[in-house]
Amino acid sequence: MWPNSTSQTVDTCDTHCPYCALQCGMSLVANGEGVTVQARNFPTNRGGLCQKGWTATELLAHPERLTTPLLRDRKGALLRPVTWDEALDRIVAAIRSAQQHYGPDAVGVFGGGGLTNEKAYSLGKFARVALRTSQIDYNGRFCMSSAAAASIKAFGIDRGLPFPLADIPHAETILLVGSNVAETMPPIMQYFQEQKKNGGSLIVVDPRWTPTAAAATMHLQITPGTDVALANGLLYIAMKQGLLDEPFIASRTSGFDRVRRTVSGYWPDRVERITGISEKQLYAAARLLGNASTAMILTARGPEQQSKGVDTVLAFINLALGLGKAGKPYCGYGCLTGQGNGQGGREHGQKADQLPGYRKIDNPDHRSYIASVWRVPEEIIPGPGCSAYEMLDRLGTEDGVRALLVFGSNLAVSVPRAGHIEERLQALDFLCVSDFFLSETAELADVVLPSTQWAEEEGTMTNLEGRVLRRRRAMDAPEGVRSDLETIHAIAERLGAGEYFSSEPREVFAELRRATAGGAADYYGITYERIERENGVFWPCPAEDHPGTPRMFLDSFAAPDGRARFHSVEYRSAAEEPDEEFPLYLTTGRVMQQYQSGTQTRRVRQLNESVPQAFVEMHPSMALSYGIANGDPVRVITRRGAASVRAQLTPAIRMDTLFMPFHFAGRGRANLLTNPALDPTSRMPEFKICAARIERDAGC
Ligand code: SF4
Repeated sequence: MWPNSTSQTVDTCDTHCPYCALQCGMSLVANGEGVTVQARNFPTNRGGLCQKGWTATELLAHPERLTTPLLRDRKGALLRPVTWDEALDRIVAAIRSAQQHYGPDAVGVFGGGGLTNEKAYSLGKFARVALRTSQIDYNGRFCMSSAAAASIKAFGIDRGLPFPLADIPHAETILLVGSNVAETMPPIMQYFQEQKKNGGSLIVVDPRWTPTAAAATMHLQITPGTDVALANGLLYIAMKQGLLDEPFIASRTSGFDRVRRTVSGYWPDRVERITGISEKQLYAAARLLGNASTAMILTARGPEQQSKGVDTVLAFINLALGLGKAGKPYCGYGCLTGQGNGQGGREHGQKADQLPGYRKIDNPDHRSYIASVWRVPEEIIPGPGCSAYEMLDRLGTEDGVRALLVFGSNLAVSVPRAGHIEERLQALDFLCVSDFFLSETAELADVVLPSTQWAEEEGTMTNLEGRVLRRRRAMDAPEGVRSDLETIHAIAERLGAGEYFSSEPREVFAELRRATAGGAADYYGITYERIERENGVFWPCPAEDHPGTPRMFLDSFAAPDGRARFHSVEYRSAAEEPDEEFPLYLTTGRVMQQYQSGTQTRRVRQLNESVPQAFVEMHPSMALSYGIANGDPVRVITRRGAASVRAQLTPAIRMDTLFMPFHFAGRGRANLLTNPALDPTSRMPEFKICAARIERDAGC
């Protein structure tokens, strides 16, 4: 069962959890009857795992596991099992037909932030070299794109955390904005607990009093979507109270004068009116940050998944720079990446505007370098394509994608305005989905391909610290199942481009290293063997004798002049604010027991028994005014649709705000309601704020 096994009955394989970006170290132990999980003392999780990690192996031999390709003969017919040859022939016929009738961009590719670096790299190359389409994007567009764009603007480079997790306990004050890590990645709480033990302060900004907020020194219960005003207001107080680090601003940054003028309009009582956070708390938070000798500011999806997500992150970066809390030990701004390979997934070319190594597809030098690695003429590499939502919004239209290939993403549940996106998926001439279960998106497909799970494949992942890790193959995949690398290679071969692709992860990684050499995200010096020996290697790592870069910016930032850039940003309202018809805010997020669209975790018995269905959290006083009791069936309605769920009353949420988890399908789908208003730079949809109303569900 186990490669390199030295024992007939028991063996162990060290790998990482398949789910979130913490990428906890775990060992898979085969005992003859099955596979169990043991927590591993890896630097990120230090022996801890959450419930999702402990139960991850339940999916390996799950009865609903796909083990054969499925094909739908015509619209309306049922999916039926077919051979790989039949499925691949159908895919290639659909690609050829779409491109003959409508041109190369009629075929689209949609990737995922859970794919290994090798798969993400191959998928980006497959789109450009085998399909010659510009239409490729991935679900990470919906996760970290705002923080990524802001970091590039301010620091010249995007790496989620510019320091290792081990630095967290040494920060005197931490401002954590819009993140509920106690539930989403519980083992990370060790670092915050240690920080507290060291006498540090943790300030949590969240419209809900979450378990993370409960562990904090101070909770700022913010009005959804007003984070820019908060950040500018804290910088205003820092200015007035003499808390700015003027020598740092002068020697290591540029652009502060405009920011100084902008934030002078964010006096505390105005910020209190906008954010709902009292002046007293604003002063206390500014002093905790400004008087600390070391401080970190961390953001997650709360401030980022907004139609002004980039500005919001820039406002917090301004705060860090103004206080001189960046580019120094135990200081800095960081984004807490969510998806398993959310970091690596955004570096290697599955984004519409990007080539491997964080290179730009519209930069002539970057294009010609990548063309040389790929051994193709530069002119065959298409230009930038549409961002994720913009591509999906036009599926099946005259000038949109007509045939779509989806790898590792469940669009019908995870995309905003999901009812509309489901209609667009149905309007396609052809949809192919590669997954290990029949997800809600796979159910709509013309061809479904069964893919390997994490324990059955080799590859690398890059965690939230920028640490590149080994995912190790612990067991053979069930017969009939193939890795996405094999699938990509097989389709490319049928399209006459097989020579450019390998299905062997080590070979793909060797090429990825060359492709990233000299780029912003430089992996050239990273090898499988080094990762093994060194508990992962931090990029950038330009040579095999380079130690890797756990801490960035200590000497200079990544802009050509070495300085970080301030950006002046003004607060503006959400794309949709509450009004008479829709008087409440709706925000969405995660629960501990489920992950992303739930394709995996909704199939794990223990997890599903804990949180089996969608719900809406609301304040008891608000519920009383609507005549709603705990557990009542209710309808949550927005301008995009209605969802039917049970009410969950809690005083932990603001009186004006509803919260729904986004992991569930069917009538409880939160994304039936969410607003696809996009950030002008990152093209991030506004998942976190829209206007809603609630009513008792008479029909339930
Ligand atoms: Fe897996 Fe994340 Fe839980 Fe760790 S915290 S066990 S990586 S889901």
